Amino acid sequence: MQPLQVVGRLQARCAPLVRRWLSSAASAPVSERVTASSPVPFPDVEEEENQGPPSYQERSTQSTDFESDRFPVRYDWTRDEIRRLYNHPLLDLVYHGATAHRIYFNPREVQQCTLLSIKTGGCPEDCKYCSQSSSYKTAVKAEKLMGFDDVMESARRAKEGGSTRFCMGAAWRGVSQVGPRQFDRVLQMVSEVRGMGMEVCATLGLLNTEQAKKLKEAGLTAYNHNLDTSKEYYPKVITSRVYEDRLKTLESVREAGISVCCGGIIGLGESHEDRVSLLHTLATLKEHPESVPVNALVANEGTPLEEADTVPVWDLCRMIATARIVMPRSMVRLSAGRLGLSEAEQALCFMAGANSIFTGDKLLTTPNPEFSEDRAMFETLGLKGKQPFYYEKLEEKHVSS
Ligand code: SF4
Repeated sequence: MQPLQVVGRLQARCAPLVRRWLSSAASAPVSERVTASSPVPFPDVEEEENQGPPSYQERSTQSTDFESDRFPVRYDWTRDEIRRLYNHPLLDLVYHGATAHRIYFNPREVQQCTLLSIKTGGCPEDCKYCSQSSSYKTAVKAEKLMGFDDVMESARRAKEGGSTRFCMGAAWRGVSQVGPRQFDRVLQMVSEVRGMGMEVCATLGLLNTEQAKKLKEAGLTAYNHNLDTSKEYYPKVITSRVYEDRLKTLESVREAGISVCCGGIIGLGESHEDRVSLLHTLATLKEHPESVPVNALVANEGTPLEEADTVPVWDLCRMIATARIVMPRSMVRLSAGRLGLSEAEQALCFMAGANSIFTGDKLLTTPNPEFSEDRAMFETLGLKGKQPFYYEKLEEKHVSS
């Protein structure tokens, strides 16, 4: 059974309560909205920690006094429900995101992942936001697959910097495009990084089930494959593949028993309705992705979106809080665009429900805050890194209880 299925069984019992909250919040005056969603008592974080992990998860999976009744894990969201959530007054929405976050997770813990581009540039896909596409003249030049030792050195540095997940990205259309020799080298990298005690993620483009199974055997924890935007807006951003291709790869990943990391990018010129549509697609998958990256476009010179406006932090918060509420047990990752945010703005995103970040000075080819800057921010905000293998431990705990 997938970890997220554990609480999925509760959805039928819980759904009416959230519907009631949604309808009352949408129609009631502000003063009544507060009553309609009165706060749960704020947990004593230190006390919870002393009881050993994972006390927050236990509360959501085992307690009979079920606080998560108010924010159940559901797979039957309607687009209208998500739209109404998304359109809530922002601070009200952040408050609810923060509440859902505290029910399912220890809010002090933030997962730290490091993303390395192991094969940069020369990609045959035409994603309009990407400096690695061979369709555009950008500063990024095509390179060969990185050497094994260099990748291991990066993984070691990431681990020393506090990362618990190491993600490797290749600018490929998919694994089938490159042939078995390069794929075998990636499998070897996966296996070696896993042997270092880190979670391993890869983003290699389109994947079939057989390839996914090989990655699983090599020790892959998660596969990143973003849907980017809504199904409706997708052809305006990418023409070299279709939305259905992405969904098929996600199915292959699930079939192989690998965690899914899937989210999107805002700031591509899409409407708010497109953002709602993307969240609806993610929240109604058979299983919610274990990781949901929320990226803000970093406009790259030479790409068709080089002149795009900077995404306001408020839009990021709105996406994060809505994602947190509709997929409450997923890690919501504050991803690309973080370098442009102040610590206070990042704090607001953590408050809204983000509990994962990319660390390390590069996100594939995009600049990112340094390890040391993040360490200082964690200290200021009272945050700490999440231990690796969170979902595996949660599943083991459930099975043995
Ligand atoms: S986003 Fe990925 S698939 Fe799209 S062009 Fe860039 S590297 Fe290729």
